[in-house]
Amino acid sequence: MANTSDWAAARAAVEACTACPLRETCRQTVFGVGSETAEVLFVGEGPGKTEDEEGVPFVGPAGKLLDELLAAIGLTREHVYIANIVKCRPPMNRDPKPEERAACMPHLKRQMELLAPKLVVCLGRIAAQELISPEFRVTQEHGFWNIRGSYEIMGTWHPAALLRNERNLPDAFEDFKVLQRRIRKVCKMTPSDPIALCAGRAKDT
Ligand code: SF4
Repeated sequence: MANTSDWAAARAAVEACTACPLRETCRQTVFGVGSETAEVLFVGEGPGKTEDEEGVPFVGPAGKLLDELLAAIGLTREHVYIANIVKCRPPMNRDPKPEERAACMPHLKRQMELLAPKLVVCLGRIAAQELISPEFRVTQEHGFWNIRGSYEIMGTWHPAALLRNERNLPDAFEDFKVLQRRIRKVCKMTPSDPIALCAGRAKDT
């Protein structure tokens, strides 16, 4: 089982990394957040403007929507781990280039080694194409589990894409319910009973 110093070394490796040009233009690296013993890993594409400023993945409106989707199936960020394909913000929020993704993949692989998740959820096309299939199409293949050795993996929409096109929100919510059912089958420590959304929102006011 990974220990704290393993995680610290992985974080330090990201902070020191200059393996692709994204490090020259980002404000800081965004390593990941959550429980280092989580059974469920979410993987997004890369940091956006707010993430670059705060050093945390999935903050801002997209992060709030992710928090709400998690709460609907009984999860908070403390129950899962959240990371990205690339750890440095692409300029103007463009898609990370294939060579940038390839350069950064060893960092995500190290995180996955340390975490040894049971379930992995790709948030958006870029993550799903890197981790599931280069041809992955979210609209057609979302919500289906693929077995990868010691873990299962599926793709769904990126929360930012859901905010741009709310038409896909019901399907994304169904994907989270698929996740909830899988957690109940294969996870031992991860909760899966819904958290009252109104309680979470009340804290914001
Ligand atoms: S994006 Fe990844 S590979 Fe590129 S410099 Fe940042 S940490 Fe290194």
